[in-house]
Amino acid sequence: MYARVIVDVPVVDTDRPFDYAVPAALLPFVRVGSRVSVPFGPRKLQGFVIELAEQTDVDRVKAVLDVMDIEPPLTEEMVELARKMSARYMCTQYAALQSMIPAVLRSSYEKQVSLTSAGMAFESGLMDEQAFYQHIKNRQPIAWDALIKQFPMAASWLTDGMKAGRIIVEQIVGDRVTKKTVTVIEPAVSLEQLEMAKVELPKSAARQKEVLSHFVHHYAAIDQPQLLALLRVSNQTVKALIDKGFLRREEVENYRDPFAGRTFAPVEKHPFTTQQQTVINGISEGMNPPQYYPCLIHGVTGSGKTEVYLEIMERTIEQGREAILLVPEISLTPQMVNRFKGRFGDQVAVMHSRLSQGERYDEWRKIRRGQVKVAIGARSAIFAPFRNLGLIILDEEHEGSYKQEETPRYHARTIAQYRGLYHQAVVLFGSATPSMESYHEAQRGRIHLFTMDERVNNRPMPVVNIVDMREELREGNRTMFSKSLVEAIEDRLAKQEQMVMFLNRRGFSTFVMCRSCGYVAGCPHCDISLTYHRSNRTLRCHYCGYTESEPTLCPECGSEHIRFFGTGTQKVEEELSRHFPGIRVIRMDVDTTGRKGAHEKLLQDFREGKGDVLLGTQMIAKGLDFPNVTLVGVLAADSTLNLPDFRAAERTFQLITQVGGRAGRHEKQGEVILQTYNTEHYSIQLASRHDYSTFFVEEIKQRYEKNYPPYCRLILFTFTHENVPLIVKKAEQFAGKLRQIIPSGAFLLGPVASPIARIKDRYRFQCMVKYKNDPRVLPDIYRLVRAFDDERKKTGIMLTVDVDPQMMM
Ligand code: ADP
Ligand code: ZN
Ligand code: ZN
Repeated sequence: MYARVIVDVPVVDTDRPFDYAVPAALLPFVRVGSRVSVPFGPRKLQGFVIELAEQTDVDRVKAVLDVMDIEPPLTEEMVELARKMSARYMCTQYAALQSMIPAVLRSSYEKQVSLTSAGMAFESGLMDEQAFYQHIKNRQPIAWDALIKQFPMAASWLTDGMKAGRIIVEQIVGDRVTKKTVTVIEPAVSLEQLEMAKVELPKSAARQKEVLSHFVHHYAAIDQPQLLALLRVSNQTVKALIDKGFLRREEVENYRDPFAGRTFAPVEKHPFTTQQQTVINGISEGMNPPQYYPCLIHGVTGSGKTEVYLEIMERTIEQGREAILLVPEISLTPQMVNRFKGRFGDQVAVMHSRLSQGERYDEWRKIRRGQVKVAIGARSAIFAPFRNLGLIILDEEHEGSYKQEETPRYHARTIAQYRGLYHQAVVLFGSATPSMESYHEAQRGRIHLFTMDERVNNRPMPVVNIVDMREELREGNRTMFSKSLVEAIEDRLAKQEQMVMFLNRRGFSTFVMCRSCGYVAGCPHCDISLTYHRSNRTLRCHYCGYTESEPTLCPECGSEHIRFFGTGTQKVEEELSRHFPGIRVIRMDVDTTGRKGAHEKLLQDFREGKGDVLLGTQMIAKGLDFPNVTLVGVLAADSTLNLPDFRAAERTFQLITQVGGRAGRHEKQGEVILQTYNTEHYSIQLASRHDYSTFFVEEIKQRYEKNYPPYCRLILFTFTHENVPLIVKKAEQFAGKLRQIIPSGAFLLGPVASPIARIKDRYRFQCMVKYKNDPRVLPDIYRLVRAFDDERKKTGIMLTVDVDPQMMM
């Protein structure tokens, strides 16, 4: 048997499978989707098996050295998917495959083998097998490779032993075992025998009698530490009973449950609203018979989309199929998870970046082994290795975080479509502000559109008041709070209602400027200004991490009038306290949410009424649901509007709608105050009127006129190097070749300096291809990109390719 292996060589020109022979000892373990280690030139590399074959054309074929996992981490579907990703995103197949497995598996090689108590007691009729067991017993835990080397024919003993529960194979990460086992104590004899033993034990063994008595009443396994604590007995007591053969000690695998200790109250089902029922009926039709059924729910915030997800999910599970729910990382709150765990209990696995790697691996394994039916997570959960997917949901499908901003630069929306096609599944996008791309598809009938334009229980949409900050300035108000916002805050404080204050970080990082000469402190390695961090009085670069202490004199002119400008969340917090003495502010930003669990803690505090104001950045815009919030203040609604990005208007509309959606979701009427310097802009006007349809018409017109997605597709090429003349020369050469191969109707823009022209001392140039949605151009371009690898080797110039870019910087 031969394995075709994609090896870990990070260059595109070796991105093809290599053949290796599979030694007999590894035969049962090497399958499509297995990770193996193989000889490659003088090195030993990791790789993925993408195909098995009876024959090979290679003359002197080398052999697979080892297999990393007992069960292959990837399915055949994923292997196929990686091939598609590679072609679509111009990345190596290895990078695509690697992105599909949990991080712990990306680095770990070691496996170790040990015996369970059944294994210790096992007596084989075969002398060789007996020797094999003896060998493990004397050395356990023993490294897998060493064992295979010693017993090349041990494969079937291993597989049989594992199946029969005599042998445990564990994956090691660093020096930690990823699989956590717990020690349990259980009866080793029948209940009658236990009762007899209890009677027969001498009086002096009172402790032992107590332990036996426990097992007579609870004839079951129990955690060893729990048993000792419960009966207040010592280890020796238990050991004595084990030695006498009444009890035994067992190591069992324990999944770390990140939500352990929390109870998930079953959530009661409401009768559906008419709109919910219509959507549910429509999608259910698409599920019977199972077929690829792409659809989009355009539902205003609070229209009950999540309730629809739950119902469709339940029907999917009833069909015997599985479901993935993707939500943006910051919406992945316990509150959100509770709604699903409350309905589906243990059938839910949650993949969360705040979990430890080991915890995430555990969740992933439950999916891989078919022990759960639902996976919930952020972007990478799109790769949940289910075998019988019936449903993929992307909540807030317009979110930028569904696009991975490093290789492979995939979009979860696209992967969802690939997987949906493969499994003939429902692919459901949901949003209050669908992306232009998805809504355009819906309008052209390529995906089914469902609209929910009413809030549950006819709760009104919040009233949005636009405040012109230029007017405020004219009237002499130089603070960051307009008159109406001040009044509204005072009103809520008096009524003891809560508020959310939103600051868009992008436009508002704080920088240090000299008032005498205008000097702005910038990063010496990147072309951006440094951000001021008040807590430790330092200036930090957000791209490379460069840090320096706060200057007291201007390095240009020596003036003392150098200080920080702009409005960070810390500054707003101070201003709030100054304006409204005694106001309780809960601030959420990167500084206050760094520690594990801090994010959740702050939200919990706010929910319990420990703060009047929740103040934050993007983090607080999404998915949060607080009954007592009746005022949302957006301090600068237009700060996204001036970004050099054709999606600026779309982003602004989305952000305002999202933030506004936080107000008045419950009984109390909500109000939103939008402060802006661009009162007339259509995205601000229309967002304030909750008018997505008109916004779409207006925005799609702009896209059409300027020829931007969804009327074309983009590929962004970015070159980086320390040397400007070199980069210009190479970028132009590359662009020249590109121009020759792109079809008529496609355009090439650039090369030009990137909006951020330097990062970490590397200069950045970019060019962009705009083409009609014809995937036939991709292979030719990918060939050019691969060929550019020679330049990288010769000069160190780097080229990154971003297909369907979301960020234009
Ligand atoms: P969305 O996801 O569209 O923002 P949710 O599904 O979170 O909306 O619903 C908003 C609120 O209304 C939630 O508190 C939810 O429990 C409640 N809700 C949803 N559907 C119903 C219904 N049919 N009857 C009563 N309450 C509902
Ligand atoms: Zn100066
Ligand atoms: Zn920097």
